[in-house]
Amino acid sequence: MTDQIVSTLQQTLRGRVIGRNDADYDTARALYNGMIDKRPRLIARCADVADVIAAVNFGRDQGLLIAIRGGGHNGPGLGSCDDGLVIDLSMMKSVRVDPASRTVRVDAGCTSGDVDHATHAFGLAVPFGIVSTTGVAGLTLGGGTGYLTRKYGLTIDNLLEADLVLADGSFVTASKSQHSDLFWALRGGGGNFAVVTTFLFQAHPVSAVYAGPIFWEATHAEAVMRAYRDFLPTAPEELGAFVGLKTVPSVEPFPKDYWGRRACAVISSYNGPAAEGEKVMARLLESLPAPIFNWMGAVPFSAMQASFDPLFPKGLQWYWKGDFVKSLPDAAINTHIVQAAKAPSELSLMHLYPIDGAVRRVPKDATAWNTRDATWSMVIAGIDPDPSRADALKTWGRAYWKAVHPFNLEGAYVNFMMDDELEGRVQASYGENYKRLASVKAKYDPKNLFRVNQNILPAGP
Ligand SMILES: Cc1cc2nc3c(=O)[nH]c(=O)nc-3n(C[C@H](O)[C@H](O)[C@H](O)COP(=O)(O)OP(=O)(O)OC[C@H]3O[C@@H](n4cnc5c(N)ncnc54)[C@H](O)[C@@H]3O)c2cc1C
Repeated sequence: MTDQIVSTLQQTLRGRVIGRNDADYDTARALYNGMIDKRPRLIARCADVADVIAAVNFGRDQGLLIAIRGGGHNGPGLGSCDDGLVIDLSMMKSVRVDPASRTVRVDAGCTSGDVDHATHAFGLAVPFGIVSTTGVAGLTLGGGTGYLTRKYGLTIDNLLEADLVLADGSFVTASKSQHSDLFWALRGGGGNFAVVTTFLFQAHPVSAVYAGPIFWEATHAEAVMRAYRDFLPTAPEELGAFVGLKTVPSVEPFPKDYWGRRACAVISSYNGPAAEGEKVMARLLESLPAPIFNWMGAVPFSAMQASFDPLFPKGLQWYWKGDFVKSLPDAAINTHIVQAAKAPSELSLMHLYPIDGAVRRVPKDATAWNTRDATWSMVIAGIDPDPSRADALKTWGRAYWKAVHPFNLEGAYVNFMMDDELEGRVQASYGENYKRLASVKAKYDPKNLFRVNQNILPAGP
């Protein structure tokens, strides 16, 4: 049965269709998060838009559950599904930079590293996340935060248009002037509405940055977090800087004497001359004790974007919890420090990513992404290579989140949620925009064909 369905779809596709009997099925279905083990019935590795149209029509007509895969990085593995069809875009990787208009056309299978590589040659960048192997598609559709967010906004604030295949197989372009309702919903509403085949982004002048991590011993965490909290609103928007509670990794080039010791870190990227960046950072550093190390220096932005990659190869166990955070009172800082100290593994972390500055200048109802009055997007991630540690990662993440959540806002960044909380929290995260999202869903995907995502139910008649 499986073989027949694979060969039927294969006849209409230029890309490859992979089924359970194929030798590379396990490699093809593997996701970034090793905690997720989904077994799709078939994987359609689309080569172009025509393949995507064929795959959507096939999946719908066969009554298959459909998942859409970009970079495969999603925490709960929403880029795959059990027993259904995965529309895998990872082979669609073209990037075209137009230096005159400073725009970039990006195929939906690109990682942010693919785009950073292409734009860096032109002294440009699009705001993406902090790990370059992350898929542009899932990151963008959920919102997208990173080092350039304070200055240039979320990734969606830089989205100019998207080419899409709808649930009925038709192809449309969404922008401010075409299918503007769909364009509104796409910007934060996740993969609910269509399969995106290409994005068009606005890029910005970014080339060498003054960037890197600064680590302090955990005993200084309270001082560092307080100083960072007070410094951030006064810092120029050219500085993207997040604070984290982490462990010094037990690998070169980290100082051996500190391997495996709990730490507090500020990881920053200043888009401007190094001397200027140094001056800005001095304002934070002058009030603080000496760090274990300060590795800030002039680096190509594309290198900074990839700096976390070696620590986080594909296949680790990840358990995610998120929240939007408006303010960080001393009591919250203390709670963070107590909980982070119980981390079950060296890689487990808590990060607070700034979402102030340009993000706040976009009205709350201008895109689906609602919580523009928050100051940070918090992530707690339990991470370890060993599958037998999965329960320990979950237990820690849940307990940590439970302790700090009373200090935070109701919703969270949809891309930082696991599936054990998707149902209850998606609505809270979209707030007053949820109703409008449900109407757009009803118009473009009334039967909820695209439901392997942070699902928005189509509004009733
Ligand atoms: C190590 C790591 C670091 C991260 N850092 C950041 C960060 O700094 N900033 C940030 O904002 N996020 C970050 N994230 C979260 C990231 O944004 C999400 O995991 C996102 O879902 C990844 O997108 P993807 O394309 O790789 O995911 P996939 O697993 O391929 O897809 C996830 C979901 O996106 C949707 N989707 C994917 N492609 C399409 C498409 N072409 N059309 C329609 N829907 C589609 C589908 O609903 C799918 O279920 C990080 C994640 C990881 C694992």
